[in-house]
Amino acid sequence: MSNEQTFIAIKPDGVQRGLIGPIISRFENRGFKLIAMKTCSPSKEHLEKHYQDLAEKPFFKGLVAYMLSGPIVAMVWEGRDVVKTGRKPETDQFQPAILGATNPLNSAPGTIRGDYAIDVGRNVCHGSDSVESAKKEISLWFSPSELLQWKHSQASWIYENA
Ligand code: GDP
Ligand code: MG
Repeated sequence: MSNEQTFIAIKPDGVQRGLIGPIISRFENRGFKLIAMKTCSPSKEHLEKHYQDLAEKPFFKGLVAYMLSGPIVAMVWEGRDVVKTGRKPETDQFQPAILGATNPLNSAPGTIRGDYAIDVGRNVCHGSDSVESAKKEISLWFSPSELLQWKHSQASWIYENA
């Protein structure tokens, strides 16, 4: 077992297209534990901070407008290697992951982006790309009291040494 955590967000297109349930199911069915979730509409400043590493990119303004265009479902999932199981690390483009690649056209069928999206600017969900960025993102989106520690009754059916 592990208490590694990742930040996953269903972007406004994922919410509007009715993909909240299917996206949550990918993580839930795999065996990960949901320890925080909220529907929210963060400010422009909050979203600029979330994507601050991309501030110099030509698509940055459009990205922030996209993220401001409707509600977002923000979540924290916990479990062994949940960060790299959730998405490809930047350093390993061949690592399979639940989210798929940034560009849905490069995402394998069976991944969220590979099953539900076409355009890189409408790729339905976000996932932290490293344990370090997960920590930063979780603290930006959630206060510590919103992260619920609870005993997963399935743990010993998911982990050999639970
Ligand atoms: P991610 O970590 O896989 O989400 O990808 P990045 O951190 O590189 O980019 C953040 C988000 O910016 C992506 O999920 C896309 O929504 C958007 N994005 C990235 N690259 C492009 C691009 O070339 N064009 C557009 N329009 N959006 C992009
Ligand atoms: Mg990223």
